[in-house]
Amino acid sequence: MKKQISLNVQCPHCLTSLMDTENVLHDFPSIKLNITTPANRGIIHLCSVYECFDHRSNIEIKDNTVVDFYCPSCNRELLVNEECKLCDAPMVSFVLLTGGRVNICSRNGCSNHYVAFSDLTTEVTKFYNEFGV
Ligand SMILES: [Zn+2]
Ligand SMILES: [Zn+2]
Repeated sequence: MKKQISLNVQCPHCLTSLMDTENVLHDFPSIKLNITTPANRGIIHLCSVYECFDHRSNIEIKDNTVVDFYCPSCNRELLVNEECKLCDAPMVSFVLLTGGRVNICSRNGCSNHYVAFSDLTTEVTKFYNEFGV
């Protein structure tokens, strides 16, 4: 079995931790976010284990629905200026506490997500520029 890496992420805007230690998935704290779908608004808990796609939500999310993700603290959208290479949906981005960032596809059922650890300084600068912070 592969070693499980639990990602520790924070909001790219307000830098508040998105980890929810009270809602555990696969023995790790989950990533808690506010979401909206074309039909509904709710809360989602994403599994923080890298390459695991499990999640739990209090609303129904149909397959292939593009979901908008918002920070529960500052309520800003966690969009990055990038499209999914697999399905063209917008990508969502978190900042890793350890540096770098993780991007996931906003479409439910799409398996695209990746972690970018490349040149940290440039990566972070570029990131803030994109968000105009
Ligand atoms: Zn925030
Ligand atoms: Zn996708």
